Amino acid sequence: MHWSVDELLDHLYGVRMADRHLDVCPDCQARLGEFKRRKQQGTGAPEFTEQDLAAQRRNIHRRLKGPDQAQWSFPWMPAMATAALLLLGVLLSRPAPEADGGKELMALGGDSQFYTEIYASMGSAEPRAAAPIRGLFEEK
Ligand SMILES: [Zn+2]
Repeated sequence: MHWSVDELLDHLYGVRMADRHLDVCPDCQARLGEFKRRKQQGTGAPEFTEQDLAAQRRNIHRRLKGPDQAQWSFPWMPAMATAALLLLGVLLSRPAPEADGGKELMALGGDSQFYTEIYASMGSAEPRAAAPIRGLFEEK
C-alpha cells in the first residue's frame, strides 16, 4: 500500500522512518522527491538582490511623496507656511479699525469703562462662582 501524503510529510520532517515499501516503490519515492523539492524551494534563500531591495525602497519613497508633493516639495515650504501663519496671527490680533460703533463706544469711555460698569452692576469684581471657595477660607 502506498504511503499517504501525511506519511510522506512525516518522513520528510524526520518524524517517520522509511520502511520496505518506500525503499522499493518508485511511485512513493517520486512523490517524496517532489515534496523534498518543494520544501527546498520554500526554505531556500530569497531570490532578490540588494539592488532589488534598494529599488523597491526608492519606489516606496516616491509613491509616498505622491505626484503633487513631489512637484511642490521645497525644503523651505514649512518655514514659509509658519511665517505666513505668524503674520496672519499678528494681523488678526491687532485691534480692528474703529467703525462708527467704535466711536460710540469711545464716547461711552471705551472697553475698560464698559467692563468696570458691568462689574459694578454685578456688585463685585469677583465672579459669583468664586463665592463658595471664598467661604472655605473665611474665619468664623
Ligand atoms: Zn508506494
